[in-house]
Amino acid sequence: MKITNVTIAGAGVLGSQVAWQVAQHGFNVTVYDVFAEGLAGGKRNHRQFAELFHSRRGFSQEEVEGTLSRIIYTTDLADAVKDADLISESVPENLDIKKKFYLELAKAAPEKTIFTTNSSTMVPSMYALETGRPEKFLALHFANPVWDANVGEVMMHPGTDSSCFEIVIDFARAIGMVPIPIHKEQSGYILNSLLIPFLTAGQNLFFSDVADCESIDKTWMIATGAKAGPFGILDIVGMETVYNIALMSGKKSNNQQLLDRAHRIKTEWIDKGKMGVSSGEGFYEYPNPKYQDPDFLK
Ligand code: NAD
Repeated sequence: MKITNVTIAGAGVLGSQVAWQVAQHGFNVTVYDVFAEGLAGGKRNHRQFAELFHSRRGFSQEEVEGTLSRIIYTTDLADAVKDADLISESVPENLDIKKKFYLELAKAAPEKTIFTTNSSTMVPSMYALETGRPEKFLALHFANPVWDANVGEVMMHPGTDSSCFEIVIDFARAIGMVPIPIHKEQSGYILNSLLIPFLTAGQNLFFSDVADCESIDKTWMIATGAKAGPFGILDIVGMETVYNIALMSGKKSNNQQLLDRAHRIKTEWIDKGKMGVSSGEGFYEYPNPKYQDPDFLK
């Protein structure tokens, strides 16, 4: 099956990046968001990406304009999917919203359409039934930012047809991702299954006063050759997410240490506007964080 027309559902942080990446690789893209403000935010992001790719990433004016010209925007679901070969869904990370979206999509989309979800914390079987076509449904998970962290984790659920799995792997490659086939449902895919325990281990050392964050990052970077340690990465992830993960896992496992950590992250970072890279300060100060200084590893 040849993929030509791709619909992106949800024009937020990730949906707008995925739309850009897909259009930049020559596909026709329709961006759908249920809210006019959501769609307007996606359009705004695309104008910023055009500027970024032209001024800092070596793309000509014609190339970025070509990308923009391949994207259309709508808040009408039936219109958005009427000729879609593939849908990449990035609606909010909430099970009820996902289920409701797929129930509506199942009615509106033509039979040929393959559905892919970009959910980070849920697995496809949690809403495969609602899609009405479980055999044509699977996950294609992106990392942020899509173009630099260009892994495309392709994960099937027990009912996914293997031919669809192969089509999505080829599609991921065609849009500049390195496809990562995942044959069995795994919460957190590969990346977050590795990353979250790693980031938690770094925080355990820091919040129990074993060592400061620079020493922890330095150790990791020298010993493994990595470009960043846990605290450089936590600043990229953003303190809001770091806080939410500590709070949610603390509540889930009734772990007071994690709940205390969430409280400290809130009062010592978030309440002071230190949100990570996005606000100019987190564990490090930006735009030139200490861990990127050539002398840091000495
Ligand atoms: P976001 O809140 O930035 O964007 C969600 C968008 O969906 C909004 O524009 C909203 O208006 C729209 N929306 C809400 N309900 C909708 C509906 N019923 N139909 C269509 N659009 C609807 O969220 P995000 O950070 O882009 O995350 C979206 C998905 O991408 C989540 O499943 C998340 O797990 C996944 N994801 C996020 C990241 C990340 O770094 N933010 C990384 C990988 C995957």
